[in-house]
Amino acid sequence: MREFQVPIRPAVRNLPRYRPGKAAPGAMKLSSNEMATPPSAPILEAMRKALENVNRYPDLMATPVREAIAKRFKVFPEQVCVGTGSSALLLAALSAVCSPGAKVVYPWRSFESYPIAIPASHAEGVPVPLDEDGGHDVEGLVCAAQDATALILCSPNNPTGPVLTFDTIRDIVERVPASVLVLVDEAYIDFASDPRVSSAIPLIEEHPNVLVLRTFSKVHALAGVRVGYAIGNTELIGAIQAVSVPFGVSSVAQAAALASLEDEAGVRASAQAVIAERERMIAALREAGLSVPDSQANFFFLRGLGADFVEACVDAGLIVRPFPEGVRVTLADPLTNDRFLEVARRFAR
Ligand SMILES: *Cc1c(COP(=O)(O)O)cnc(C)c1O
Repeated sequence: MREFQVPIRPAVRNLPRYRPGKAAPGAMKLSSNEMATPPSAPILEAMRKALENVNRYPDLMATPVREAIAKRFKVFPEQVCVGTGSSALLLAALSAVCSPGAKVVYPWRSFESYPIAIPASHAEGVPVPLDEDGGHDVEGLVCAAQDATALILCSPNNPTGPVLTFDTIRDIVERVPASVLVLVDEAYIDFASDPRVSSAIPLIEEHPNVLVLRTFSKVHALAGVRVGYAIGNTELIGAIQAVSVPFGVSSVAQAAALASLEDEAGVRASAQAVIAERERMIAALREAGLSVPDSQANFFFLRGLGADFVEACVDAGLIVRPFPEGVRVTLADPLTNDRFLEVARRFAR
């Protein structure tokens, strides 16, 4: 056999590999920020119905989904791009604007896809460390973004949980050059209950350099079907569409997304249940003496806990997600959360 001699780009060879949350047979997976239960019956039914036409290609532009999203957020359909998860849209958006060596500023610790998508799109990442509360260092980000091509914001921030308020996002957008693409990752925004938090979508009209990324993977409970969307300036959306894989979003995924958009009340109820559990859990963990940053997402972060805690969780049938700075835990049903609380209390000082 000949030796493999195809030159892989050095930036690709050195990419950090995405590590999905661990799974173990019989254990509860609290490691990937998924919803604990599948979507409702009408959504599953819409997907089954879509199966009957899978011999045909899907709608290229996911037009019905695009139109439903446009109507929901009061934008034009041409301002919406539907993709195979918001991770794919992030990569497409960066690919559309980054020339080799372009600077992309992002908060860190944050979503693991960022340091992968940035070099993959030939750009150079500039991580800005979080503040001591686990939130974005606004001054640091604004300063680093002055000569950047793009700036990523993640609110609520994965894995720590804190948010940027609408006013803070507007302030950031006003303080960076209009040429900087500001990507606002709103994967968890439906779980935010702080009234000062709202989507950055209304900023787009005045600031066409703002792109909002959203997903059906979290509150819509559709992580397995791979569908997300971006909302932004028409020209930018056209460029993202141009670099995206054609027919990427399957007909089954489009049917699921459309049905889920129609079930606004159901989605809101799922979010409310998560919010109630989040408030209960964070209060109980803090009362036990554990250090938990504020979270507006469907997970919380336990600072300073490590491998021994993760092992204790496994022994209790719970899979959690370790990071160098602590452990991220996805909220589940009340009984599972109680089981987790018992383990966590043993680690409180
Ligand atoms: C889960 C998550 C997403 C969603 O990714 P998909 O590709 O849509 O599944 C996006 N951003 C953040 C910060 C996330 O945690």
